[in-house]
Amino acid sequence: MPALKWGLIGASDIAATRVIGAIRVSGGDAVGVYSGSADRARDFAASHGLPNFTTDLDELLGWDIDAVYVSSANDKHFDQASKALQAGKHVLCEKPLAMTVEEATAMVDLAEQRGLVLAANHHLPGSPLHAKVRELVLAGTIGTVLSAKVAHAVLLPERLRGWRLGKTTPGSGVILDITCHDASVLNPLLGTPVAVTAVAVQQAAWNSGGQADAAMTVIRYERDGAPAVLAQTHDSFTVGYAGTSLEVHGTEGTLLVIDAMTQDTKGQVELTNAAGVQRVDVDCSEDLYVIGLRAFTAAVEGTGTPAATGRDGLLALKVALAAQESAHSGHTVRIN
Ligand code: NDP
Repeated sequence: MPALKWGLIGASDIAATRVIGAIRVSGGDAVGVYSGSADRARDFAASHGLPNFTTDLDELLGWDIDAVYVSSANDKHFDQASKALQAGKHVLCEKPLAMTVEEATAMVDLAEQRGLVLAANHHLPGSPLHAKVRELVLAGTIGTVLSAKVAHAVLLPERLRGWRLGKTTPGSGVILDITCHDASVLNPLLGTPVAVTAVAVQQAAWNSGGQADAAMTVIRYERDGAPAVLAQTHDSFTVGYAGTSLEVHGTEGTLLVIDAMTQDTKGQVELTNAAGVQRVDVDCSEDLYVIGLRAFTAAVEGTGTPAATGRDGLLALKVALAAQESAHSGHTVRIN
């Protein structure tokens, strides 16, 4: 199949730092960019070698492109992705997929009705580390799964301390930003998320926006014929000196992933059981975003599935929105 031709919706940091490169490495062609600002569109196109730029979304959708990558601010994803699907384009949409469950459901339905690929750009489920953990859990290596813990507390880079921190900015806050990613990893591993309890606070002196920048969440998962699983996440924009990790505890052992929740393919998996601690070999040579782009391309070609489908993105959003509601209300929130 010829190279997938991409239109970029959003002159964003993540497109600049990760995804344009990944499109190219995966054999795709980045045709041009849409931005709400003419200056940003022009500068972004020039900086990244894109032949076209526009401030008119319909113009972008009229270009000779197969797919769009939506990486605008979170509250724009739904409208822009829906327009692209209506124009017959496959869509790779940044997380969170939308601002509400209803919007994300409508996106998933629209893609299915049109026979188009809709994927969420969750970069972690496709990681070889997480794929290995899912494989080992499914094989019964640690027995019956009881609990999981995610450490995903990082320091938000200064250049990203904008809309993410505004208390009244739609789509802001650490839960939609990071807890959403955790859910993309935990959901396929642990079963069906049914209830969420979260506490969120504002910690950083530099956080003048007033939005929560640290949160701890507990998620209850259920699976037929198995005990309920408890998962705990620590997500933060404020912690400068901590590693990220995932632990999965079972009746016969524990899996630990060191450096589990980063943007780079690194880290390692360890299995601890009655025999002691063993390192599990995992090939971490490929970039996480390239993995995502290759999987998306295979889905468009009909030879594979996205690393995180639209439905996966919807379920991750459900968990994040439930955590957000719980943090606001102080109550446990059930997920339908
Ligand atoms: P940015 O703030 O870089 O970009 C988001 C939007 O903000 C852009 O589309 C642009 O709007 C506008 N913008 C960018 N720079 C400026 C500026 N200097 N002045 C005014 N407006 C500006 O966001 P991120 O790249 O951090 O995030 C974009 C999306 O990607 C989010 O949905 C986020 O959740 C997701 N994300 C995903 C990651 C992953 O690993 N999967 C990692 C990081 C982010 P316009 O398009 O109109 O130019």
